Amino acid sequence: MAIPEATLRQLVGVGRDLYQLGMVSSRGGNLSIRDGHALWITGTGTALGHLRALDISQVFADGQHRPPPPSSDTILHWTIYATTQAGAIAHAHPHHAIALSYDRDVFKPEDLEGQLHIPAVPVIEQGPLQEEKIANALRESRVALLQGHGAYARGASLWDALHWLTALEESAHIAWLRRAMARD
Ligand SMILES: [Zn+2]
Repeated sequence: MAIPEATLRQLVGVGRDLYQLGMVSSRGGNLSIRDGHALWITGTGTALGHLRALDISQVFADGQHRPPPPSSDTILHWTIYATTQAGAIAHAHPHHAIALSYDRDVFKPEDLEGQLHIPAVPVIEQGPLQEEKIANALRESRVALLQGHGAYARGASLWDALHWLTALEESAHIAWLRRAMARD
């Protein structure tokens, strides 16, 4: 089945925004949208800033997929869909949030907007069972960090997931600036 036009538009739009915001490198990050018992997910190593229909893989619950080869994070995406009500998932590498993810198991925003919407962002250590741990963290929180790597956000749509990634990075940037000022 060809990818539905509206699904492709969302993937292209959110991928372009993440790249233009500097939240992924030219071939970093991944995106998926749930579609019944299947999902549409970016192919491994695709350029999120320049997605085309041939960059999107359709993956089925039995593990079969249509080309291209799906993202290396596909099992994690399935685990999140099985654990939460997510309709879409976005993964990016926001600089300030990653820098703040070391040496802590939760990030608590200091700005009012962050405190209201993402008051306690779980930080998961890399290691065995990290897929299950990230998925469990996303039951309660709209966004979670994998320590030293990046952020995963869920939403009803990919635009929702993008919002939580950008909200996290905004709060992390503010927290970082406050620390820089405190050293003067
Ligand atoms: Zn990554």
